[in-house]
Amino acid sequence: MTKEIRANVAIIGAGPVGLAAARALRKEGVDNITVVDSSPVGTRFAGIAAPGNIAPDFDDLRGRLSGYPGYINLYRRSRELYEELQEQVKERIDFAPTRILQVSQEGKELSAIADHYAKSGFNFEMLTPEQVTKLEPAISANCCVGALLLGKEISGHVDPVKLVSWLADDCRSQNVNVVEGVKIEKISETKEGFRLESVGLTIDTEYVVNAAGASVAKICGLLDPKYANMAIWPVKGHFVTFAPVQNLRLGIDILNDIGSIVQYSSGEIKIGGGSDENTYEVEQWSIDRLLRSARETIPALESAPVVNTGFGFRALVRNHEPIVERIKNKSNFIIAGGLHRTGITNCLGVGEIVAKIVTDTGERKFGIDERNIPNLGMSTFG
Ligand SMILES: Cc1cc2nc3c(=O)[nH]c(=O)nc-3n(C[C@H](O)[C@H](O)[C@H](O)COP(=O)(O)OP(=O)(O)OC[C@H]3O[C@@H](n4cnc5c(N)ncnc54)[C@H](O)[C@@H]3O)c2cc1C
Repeated sequence: MTKEIRANVAIIGAGPVGLAAARALRKEGVDNITVVDSSPVGTRFAGIAAPGNIAPDFDDLRGRLSGYPGYINLYRRSRELYEELQEQVKERIDFAPTRILQVSQEGKELSAIADHYAKSGFNFEMLTPEQVTKLEPAISANCCVGALLLGKEISGHVDPVKLVSWLADDCRSQNVNVVEGVKIEKISETKEGFRLESVGLTIDTEYVVNAAGASVAKICGLLDPKYANMAIWPVKGHFVTFAPVQNLRLGIDILNDIGSIVQYSSGEIKIGGGSDENTYEVEQWSIDRLLRSARETIPALESAPVVNTGFGFRALVRNHEPIVERIKNKSNFIIAGGLHRTGITNCLGVGEIVAKIVTDTGERKFGIDERNIPNLGMSTFG
């Protein structure tokens, strides 16, 4: 028998963006929200592979993103919302401002990065290997010919899995219906809005929020094949998590040539990164490469057992900006996607924009500047 659900808003995808949107909608007083995910919450979202760097300081980004005021606002607002969240659940969210150290084995590469940062107006200093080990003794001096230290406490991180599980708990406590193990396979328009269909379940809803991550374009294509050409591509990334090592406490987030290394408050260390073949399998060579590079950078990880490994697909959009928009001529169908490297960073701000679009309250205030849209390969929407 097919189960039927009626919702005011149906959100496809219980990743950070879908859940943050549900939370923000509840804050705006919207009720009867259903979030569906094809997998159990927290098991298949892109952030499973993400180390979870969040919210670089918007002042440091000002130079780089001066053409995109909406994006700067989004960083700023997301950061405010993280701070709010941290106040709310202190012991469950790891967010401490820190700095980012970019280490490199290739001097040439580092100078190219430095050139880019200099042109983009970032604050940074170049460090010798000796200065690197002085700053962070856990890093091997042999691992780099030099490094670049960005800004002043411009980074911070959360454990994305913890974040998603916390957001899911919050949604459930706010009476959001979170449905797991339901893959949306068909979407049609109805008089009231849309009908979403899966095996054994239909959802009739006024609004759809498409927060399906790397599958955003595919989901749009279920509504109309012409939308499937939208320029959002899936890009795969792997991760390795190491168990805590006694006396190892990193004071800094590290980027090396292969990935991004962060330590959570539990003591676990995660490296995530790489862009590989888009197969739906773990690729051992990529895991091995992450393992090797993490251990070369931080020799103490040699003795650390690996807790888990895996991969996720992130949604790449040209220019890397997120898309938060209605589909043209279908004002009740909203896309929240294309957050290649910043879906954790910006999920709370994006969720808020979604809520403002649905409730029609100042959607541009924190939004992505409309002028950016032609840059995003969205011509199929015209
Ligand atoms: C290796 C790696 C490193 C990263 N590092 C960072 C980082 O340091 N900082 C940062 O901010 N971001 C990082 N990211 C990006 C970040 O993980 C993503 O941008 C973020 O997870 C996007 O969130 P989302 O909710 O839009 O999509 P997702 O997290 O992909 O969630 C989408 C959800 O939709 C569900 N879904 C898809 N299709 C359907 C369907 N048909 N029916 C029902 N459900 C469906 C999926 O199961 C999934 O749970 C990284 C990503 C990777 C892979």
